[in-house]
Amino acid sequence: MSVMLPFNRPCTIGADAAYVREAIASGHMCGDGPFGKRAQALLEAKFGAPHALLTTSCTAALEMSALLCDLAPGDEVILPSYTFVSTANAIALRGARPVFVDIRPDTLNLDERLIEAAITSRTRAIWPVHYAGVACEMDTIMDIARRHRLLVVEDAAQGVFASYKGRWLGTIGDLGCYSFHETKNIACGEGGALLVGDVRLARRAEILREKGTNRSQFLRGQVDKYTWVDLGSSYVPSDILAAFLVGQLEAGERITAKRGELCAEYARQLAPLAERGLLRLPVVPEGCVANHHMFYVIAADATTRSALMDHLRAAGYMATFHYVPLHTSPMGEAQGWRAGSLPVTEDLSARLLRLPLFYDMTLADAAAVAAMVRGFYGDR
Ligand SMILES: *Cc1c(COP(=O)(O)O)cnc(C)c1O
Repeated sequence: MSVMLPFNRPCTIGADAAYVREAIASGHMCGDGPFGKRAQALLEAKFGAPHALLTTSCTAALEMSALLCDLAPGDEVILPSYTFVSTANAIALRGARPVFVDIRPDTLNLDERLIEAAITSRTRAIWPVHYAGVACEMDTIMDIARRHRLLVVEDAAQGVFASYKGRWLGTIGDLGCYSFHETKNIACGEGGALLVGDVRLARRAEILREKGTNRSQFLRGQVDKYTWVDLGSSYVPSDILAAFLVGQLEAGERITAKRGELCAEYARQLAPLAERGLLRLPVVPEGCVANHHMFYVIAADATTRSALMDHLRAAGYMATFHYVPLHTSPMGEAQGWRAGSLPVTEDLSARLLRLPLFYDMTLADAAAVAAMVRGFYGDR
């Protein structure tokens, strides 16, 4: 079998590589140099985020969020089980307990109707995850959080350039976490950002990010020497990576639009199968604008999903499934965080299949994959 189409291929676009050469030539290679500042300014300007801090990954931004929520042993945080390990790891690393809540059948996002029943006197925060760059029901989530005095941390790793009722994902909750990992729409290999609304949280975030020191204030000339003032770690990315990211962010609209065309082609080609009830396509609720991070299909059952994946892979099209629900993972089971089942999570995770999607793909590529999917169903 030869690979006709990988699942993902990172792209370099426009100025990104040129900016990297510029960063190296400038001699400023550590973090928060000219390109780090430019990337943060771009994030703040494009998304209207009061404060954007570049991080080494979304995982790092989530870990900073756990510190900013002051999570401690005994505390509880509500999140979906259908997510990447980093969302739950950040909580567990503070000794707090991830409380897994089931997902909505349409978007596979945290089911807002189940949140209140999961709140206890120990609950500190709600951490929704915008799956596939389609927003969670944020109005309801923010309303619940305000009434119960909980912080909201958006895991918007997949949500860069997606919006909810006219607001960019990552800017709606108290904190928002972006990923620029090579598998995401806008990428610099490994990278992320923490978006912060409140100025006091932002000042503390700045300190956590600089190993617990007030170095950022020192660099702004606000204090005359810098020293250890709080907990912290090394969350600042190199300016070489920030330079690549500036090029990608500048091209963000173009990248998002191209991915949109590819998703539209998939949807158009696969609509007849969906109409016959053979599979289900992604749903974008009213008021949400997707960033086309992912194109998936949901097969009738787990056996069909696996057979379809094998069929596509045999032809060289690298379709892949996605998360093993965290409460059923070896770590989740060993910790016993979730006693009962999460029926929607367990059902949909076993039936979901992601199709290849990346910037340099052509509409003909998408049509070829879709034809293979149609062939699979035509054969039976
Ligand atoms: C990719 C991803 C992360 C982790 O991002 P990194 O930048 O690789 O640390 C976290 N959460 C979700 C939902 C993701 O998709």
